[in-house]
Amino acid sequence: MSTFHIWTLGCQMNQADSLKLAAGLEQLGYHAVEDDLEADLVVINTCSVRQHAEDRAYSRMGMLKKRRSQGGEFKLAVMGCMVGPKTDELRKRFPYVDVWARPQEFDGILQVAGDYRDVSEGELGTLLGAEGDPRTFQMAQGTYGLPKGPTAYVPVIHGCDKFCTYCIVPLRRGREDSRAAADILDEVRFLADHGVREVTLLGQTVEAYGHDLEADANGGRPDLATLFEGIDRIDGITRVRFLTSYPKDMTDRIIDAVADQPKVCEHFNIPVQSGSESMLARMRRGYTVAMFEERVARIRSRMPDAAIVTDVIVGCPGETEEEFADTVALLERTEFDIIHVAAYSPRPGTYAARNMPDDVPAEVKKARLQVIEAIHAASSERINQRVLGREVEVLIEQSESGRSTGRTRQGQLVHFDAMGPVGGRLGTLVDVEISAVTPWSLQGRLAGSHSLSVL
Ligand code: SF4
Repeated sequence: MSTFHIWTLGCQMNQADSLKLAAGLEQLGYHAVEDDLEADLVVINTCSVRQHAEDRAYSRMGMLKKRRSQGGEFKLAVMGCMVGPKTDELRKRFPYVDVWARPQEFDGILQVAGDYRDVSEGELGTLLGAEGDPRTFQMAQGTYGLPKGPTAYVPVIHGCDKFCTYCIVPLRRGREDSRAAADILDEVRFLADHGVREVTLLGQTVEAYGHDLEADANGGRPDLATLFEGIDRIDGITRVRFLTSYPKDMTDRIIDAVADQPKVCEHFNIPVQSGSESMLARMRRGYTVAMFEERVARIRSRMPDAAIVTDVIVGCPGETEEEFADTVALLERTEFDIIHVAAYSPRPGTYAARNMPDDVPAEVKKARLQVIEAIHAASSERINQRVLGREVEVLIEQSESGRSTGRTRQGQLVHFDAMGPVGGRLGTLVDVEISAVTPWSLQGRLAGSHSLSVL
């Protein structure tokens, strides 16, 4: 039997793409291996959002080139955000790569995999056609593409229309393109029937879902709240998450739906990127600090325990000490559960790379990074301290050697002893009494269960 190995960098959307590609390869008779040395087909699913992620992909490609030159027999495919609309330049630079594939455009990889295994064109068409098409979703054909655990990602909208000046995503993933609501609900039903208990609805700007779909007879379009309502009626699913949020698309209706739908977790991922008005304008984020704070206030007025996670970029072109101080002030007064922080690096092809000098010195970026990391550690620990001694609801995602791990509704990671008949059952909702906290996780002991999973 032929084997494959997919190495995935970057965001949850890339992880979802890799799972779908894996489902397609399994339909071709391949099976996954942990070690790329044992793979007939190696796929690198790349990320272009930061230079660091690209450097990691280049380094892995270099290692594979060396192996090939030493007689290693395998096919190499590179997919994801490093692959733009024109691959001529990439083909010239990396002639040892057998196939390049843009995000979600897997056909070339499946074709190479089929050729490699000597699958005829007709056979390939039958295997990959219609409902088995991994671009649409992981559909059961025998056991292909079955979910591997109690949680799953479900992309609902691809691409992005926002064109923030520093961001490569719209140039690589294209314009916003929503999937049909019926397809999404079918996929969630399929996942529920195969043991998934929690789905995370994905989009680069997930609240934009539906705006590009056709209006119904009354002029209405489905939105994220419509998906929440549909999933609420699907038996087996106990939790719904969604990411990534974009403040301007986050309507009152969507916030109210999160508050009112019991399955939807009170867990928001809303990148602010900067707390400075002038920097937000240069980033072309499309909102002001006041608009962002008004959305946060609305969330907290409806859901006082909601977790709010954010992203920040430091050292963007021209970022002054005053602008950075404005970001620090916003982070301190808002108290986010998690702050993902990154230093700016120019992404070739973006507006910023073409028009804005990368003029903040590396050591200044590093110092600003450390300031934000310290704010993050302090606020995460403060927030985690609030659940010390309390019982929290946890969905068990992993269990090994008597220890289980899962997440609260707010997304906090919880480790606890998996004692008793339900302690280690993946997909079960349990109550855990929290006995210790750090900025990154909670520890506790099992206090009870309120749903038993079939897993
Ligand atoms: S909203 Fe801005 S930062 Fe987010 S994916 Fe779109 S262009 Fe990139």
